[in-house]
Amino acid sequence: PTMKKHNYSAGPCILPQDVFEEAAQAVVNFNNSDLSILEISHRSKDFIAVMEEARALVLELLQLENKGYQVLFLAGGASLEFLMVPYNLMAQHGKAAYLDTGTWASNAIKEAKPFGETVIVASSKEQNYTFIPKGFDIPNDASYFHCTSNNTIFGTQMKSFPKTNVPLVCDMSSDIFSRTLDFSQFDLIYAGAQKNMGPAGTTLVVVKESILGKTGRYIPSMLDYEKHIKAESMYNTPPVFPIYASLLTLRWLKKLGGIAAIEKINEAKAQLLYDEIDRNPLFKGTAAPEDRSIMNATFLLLDENHVPIFDKMWKDAGISGLTGHRSVGGYRASMYNALPLESVHVLVDVMKELELVVC
Ligand code: PMP
Repeated sequence: PTMKKHNYSAGPCILPQDVFEEAAQAVVNFNNSDLSILEISHRSKDFIAVMEEARALVLELLQLENKGYQVLFLAGGASLEFLMVPYNLMAQHGKAAYLDTGTWASNAIKEAKPFGETVIVASSKEQNYTFIPKGFDIPNDASYFHCTSNNTIFGTQMKSFPKTNVPLVCDMSSDIFSRTLDFSQFDLIYAGAQKNMGPAGTTLVVVKESILGKTGRYIPSMLDYEKHIKAESMYNTPPVFPIYASLLTLRWLKKLGGIAAIEKINEAKAQLLYDEIDRNPLFKGTAAPEDRSIMNATFLLLDENHVPIFDKMWKDAGISGLTGHRSVGGYRASMYNALPLESVHVLVDVMKELELVVC
């Protein structure tokens, strides 16, 4: 497949080129039906097959088959899950525990607050979220513990998860399907599609069914996981195209060898870039080395005067989307599953060239 740009966008982001092409074909003629996927009923046989295969592939790739988990493809983004989680899980007059590791974690906390006592077990906010707090206690009487596995903006990633007797909820929006984990340690995982899974517009929720239905609170239908499970993600018209493109990406990942295979590639990409950030005297990483994300690498140029020339050089090399988030500044290289190792070589070569030019 041809590569247009070395796309480091933080999300929506690069997807496999084959997925773009196959998805485009389905918009014109889906499954040789002489109909577009955009003009058929979500309850048609062909679309139900898409939904069923996508759900099954999620469980297969995460190795969660036959363990009591349900898979949902919802709308509203990961941001709606910030609200659905407390609605469905926080006991009335109860409490929930949160780890504050960044902007998205704190947005999740904000949404939970009106539901009960929201305990922040630890926060790295004072250090501009440059590290993942460790060694905190989770109250035994919390309805759940919520964490963010990968902090997209700050470039930090949890390498291990606390052992706790309360349900473990994790926002995996920016590292789902990127690394092997024992996914059965989580009771609820959610992720907006637009990083490693597909286009924006659908949110993956993987939930252990046994944790639901315990709060005693009234839950509006559209926010009720049990209603969505019962309706097999078709309580209302689901985002059919994002789900179809997600299925194509999941098939691509399975064909490649699954999460274990992509993890090796992701680790190679991250190592290549972090080695250069550490070696090159012009650059500095912003995240604590032990917490560095293999998905989003955040770094700075030590001398502001080098910014215009570096920016011109990477743009000329066909790189796109390297500018850091406005709350951190500097650069952010998002190396999601579909970004080839070759693209990281191009970036590292530009960093080396900058050193030659200015030193
Ligand atoms: N959580 C994380 C970790 C994210 O990176 C993002 C988006 N970048 C969100 C939540 C919010 O996702 P959405 O835009 O789908 O609501």
